[in-house]
Amino acid sequence: MDTILITGGAGFIGIHTSLVLLNKGYKLVIIDSLINSSYIAINRIKSTYKKTNKYPNNISFYKGDIRDISFLRKVFKDSIKLGSEINYVIHFAGLKSVSDSFLEEDKYWDVNVNGTKTLIKVMEENNCFNLIFSSSATLYSEYETSPLRENAKVNVNNPYGKTKLEVEKFLENKIKSSHPNWKIISLRYFNPIGAHSSGLFGENPNNKINNLFPLICRSITNANEELLIFGNDWPTHDGTGVRDYIHVMDLAEGHVSAVEFLNKKIIKSSFLVINLGTGKGTSVLELINIFQKVNKININYKFAERRKGDKAIIFADIRKALELLNWQPKRSIEEMCHDGWEWFLNNPFGYEK
Ligand code: NAD
Ligand code: UDP
Repeated sequence: MDTILITGGAGFIGIHTSLVLLNKGYKLVIIDSLINSSYIAINRIKSTYKKTNKYPNNISFYKGDIRDISFLRKVFKDSIKLGSEINYVIHFAGLKSVSDSFLEEDKYWDVNVNGTKTLIKVMEENNCFNLIFSSSATLYSEYETSPLRENAKVNVNNPYGKTKLEVEKFLENKIKSSHPNWKIISLRYFNPIGAHSSGLFGENPNNKINNLFPLICRSITNANEELLIFGNDWPTHDGTGVRDYIHVMDLAEGHVSAVEFLNKKIIKSSFLVINLGTGKGTSVLELINIFQKVNKININYKFAERRKGDKAIIFADIRKALELLNWQPKRSIEEMCHDGWEWFLNNPFGYEK
């Protein structure tokens, strides 16, 4: 079975994707600096996986930074020594907070752009030309209307988005100007929420989180943190912002489909951009109402000013993912609310108790 390098594999999307890939029998080499995750996630995946007893030696973990070229070279060389040469890379590692990216623009550029370039260099040195990259729906221009197709115009207004756009351009140029074997898929995620149904894996909450779902959870457990709904005057059916929430396990399965797609020998050198969302929009109020109903819990909220830089409605056109990857999401908003809350209840402080 193929060996896949997962960068940022201890993180929210990386750990769920790793679970799905392990169940499919892939060998994984996970690397992570643990800057926004915990070794406990890795321990949990190892013990969950051991219980299945299928392929006990299929995960190895290295703590390190993707900007460190000698670290990356060692990871690739070790894998060869162990007889499992890395054939694919799924590149999650990076910094992801839009608001922090305004405060730490250089750091975001260094990790997300320079880190990716270092990774690509080491992949080339090791004749590994299959890459799946974590991109974002934040790239789409605010003037484009949903459902957003992959060929919609891009235009970014925040430093985080600029790093993702720069990497996409860099990767596209690789195809044109470099080794003919490169096969790259850039997956543009919409709004991943929810968690693994075991309650053991989820998004590690950090103080700087400003996404709606973890803030809903925190407003329940922390009486001092009232949920603010940013705007009730958007041009939407109930006045609140509409987004395309996708269960993180559906997103994880999308990566497996992408690996399987690259694995088809008929696919020639290519750079593909593919949306991963559900194709359905849900408003803030709808999400809150479903959360309350599913989890039988009350959420206190109040309306506040619109958040700077927000857009009214963002949801994906997911026909390309269905067509090329034969993938479509299966889980409902109800499951997202149930599983995400279960994780939060079991791990209010994330992996670190
Ligand atoms: P996450 O922060 O949970 O995971 C990222 C992981 O990368 C973390 O475990 C972190 O410790 C690690 N990391 C950070 N810098 C590193 C470095 N220099 N070297 C090695 N490891 C490093 O984030 P996530 O939600 O799992 O997101 C994964 C990817 O998907 C990111 O690239 C993010 O930009 C992208 N993405 C996320 C979302 C979202 O809403 N979660 C949406 C669109 C795109
Ligand atoms: N939102 C909100 N209150 C919050 C955080 C977010 O009302 O505390 C709204 C936000 O305006 C948007 C939606 O929830 O309409 C999703 O926001 P999030 O930051 O999770 O995702 P993004 O806007 O980056 O897609």
